[in-house]
Amino acid sequence: MSKFCKKCGKEIPLSSKENLCENCQNKRFGIVRKVGAGVLSMCAVVLAVVTKGKSGGPKA
Ligand SMILES: [Zn+2]
Repeated sequence: MSKFCKKCGKEIPLSSKENLCENCQNKRFGIVRKVGAGVLSMCAVVLAVVTKGKSGGPKA
């Protein structure tokens, strides 16, 4: 008897605690990382705009 990945149906070792194969686990983690990076870069942009408006002033 063996376990199968909930997402892609790939066979996974019975010892695995998750119901996802390593591949899908990595994918899930990748999405979290991607979203985190997106939020972070958005914050950076907002921060740049705010600091620019405060100290920089208009260039033209
Ligand atoms: Zn899978």
